[in-house]
Amino acid sequence: MKFCQHCAGPITHHVPTGDDKPRFCCLQCDVVFYQNPNNIVGTLPVYGDKVLLCKRAIEPRLGKWTLPAGFMENGETTLAGAIRETAEEAKATVREQDCRLYTLFNLPYINQVYLFFLTELQEPKFAAGAESLEVALFDEHEIPWDELAFAVVKITLQQYFEDRKSALFPVRMFNLEYSAERQLSTQLVSHSHQNEW
Ligand SMILES: [Zn+2]
Repeated sequence: MKFCQHCAGPITHHVPTGDDKPRFCCLQCDVVFYQNPNNIVGTLPVYGDKVLLCKRAIEPRLGKWTLPAGFMENGETTLAGAIRETAEEAKATVREQDCRLYTLFNLPYINQVYLFFLTELQEPKFAAGAESLEVALFDEHEIPWDELAFAVVKITLQQYFEDRKSALFPVRMFNLEYSAERQLSTQLVSHSHQNEW
C-alpha cells in the first residue's frame, strides 16, 4: 500500500500516537489502515459413511485434497460463507439447519482463523467447481491422508472419524504454532463437552 484510499496521500508504516504497533498510516488525512486476521470458513460435508473432499485446482497445494473452504466475504456470516464456498468449490447444496460449528483453528503465524462446520448432505449431488479438479466422497479408509492440502483439514477429518465412534461431535478450538525448529504443533484449547475447567 503506497497511497491512501481516501485522499491519495502518501502512506507510511509507523506506530501511530496512542498505539503500540506499527500501522500503515496516511500522512495527509491521518487515517490508519489496520490489517487484521482473515477468516477462512468451510464445511465437512458427510453423506452416509463418507466425507466429501475437493482436489485443489489452484495454488497453494494444487492437486492436493481439501475440504471446501475459503475466505469469508464482507457482509456475510461465517456459516453463510461456508455454505457459499461449498457451493462454489463442490457444487453441493448445504442447508443452514444441517450445519453445526465443529472445529476452529487459530493460525497466528499466518494471521488466519479457520472455521469448519459439520454438515450432512441431503443427496450425493456435487461436481468440481472452478477451484477444484475433482470432488469425491471418501470412506475413512480411502482418505488420501498423505495428499491432504492443509493441517487444519487433516485434524478436522481425524477428529471427525474419532468422534463418530461415540456419535458426539463437540466443538473444538485448536492453536497451531510453529516452534523455533519449524515443527508445527497443535494444541487443543477448548472443547464444548468439557465438564471441568
Ligand atoms: Zn489520506
